[in-house]
Amino acid sequence: MEILLIDGQPYSVTNTCTFDSIVHIICTSYIDSSSYSTWMSLNNHYSFFALIEKLIRGGINTQTYRKRANILKNVMADYKIPKNFGGIMVLDASCTAHYLLKKLFQNYPSLQEQKKCGKCNYDETISHPIINAHLPTENLNFMLDILKSSYEENKVICTKCKQTLTKTVIAGEHLIIEPIQPMSIKKFNNDVSVKLNEIPIVLHIFGKIYFLRGLICFIAPPSMLKDAIGHYVSFNWRDTDNNWERYDDLLNSVRNVRPSTVIHNCQFIIYTL
Ligand SMILES: [Zn+2]
Repeated sequence: MEILLIDGQPYSVTNTCTFDSIVHIICTSYIDSSSYSTWMSLNNHYSFFALIEKLIRGGINTQTYRKRANILKNVMADYKIPKNFGGIMVLDASCTAHYLLKKLFQNYPSLQEQKKCGKCNYDETISHPIINAHLPTENLNFMLDILKSSYEENKVICTKCKQTLTKTVIAGEHLIIEPIQPMSIKKFNNDVSVKLNEIPIVLHIFGKIYFLRGLICFIAPPSMLKDAIGHYVSFNWRDTDNNWERYDDLLNSVRNVRPSTVIHNCQFIIYTL
């Protein structure tokens, strides 16, 4: 357990696998995409992006542990508070990837839908840190079509004056996609099983070209005990050397994975410019 001093107070953060899996994909995206890293550098006043840059430039050290603890302290604030264990403040950072991605990217969403009515001046912007793909089949064959039909620009009815208006879509530098299985084949949960080499590598959508960066997957706890918690790992597609890597913070290692591997409980697929 890493103990840090935050504002003079001994502090420790546990169960950081959700956060670490997200960080790992964003780090490899930063390394592999010059347009994504340029954009992130322009926005490094945001502490999460500053952490990514620090990790890439200097690796893991006390300073990055402290930054991570500070970020988690803030994003977890309305969900969990640290507990005092013999003078050490311990923050349990276990939470779902859904919770954390929504929090971390709330100001840098995947997509914004803008509805502006020229007739009554009604103006509404919906921000989506995460976008949903309600898949019609068990695989990702229709993911692109589904995203297009759910979010692309189209005519909608004004909520206020009931006239037609054009909804505009502003897509971000990343797309965080939550694939959702059809109701008919849902077994225990919504999570999708995917074969790594069947995931689209490039997405032409919202007038931009996005490249696959990785998946965030959940490993369910072995028991149904109330306090049992699951584990998150990430699978990162490295387009610079056409290779899949699995990152697991418990093993503290990166391993190569065969592209024919089927991944269960895939919760998020991440693309960036
Ligand atoms: Zn209107």
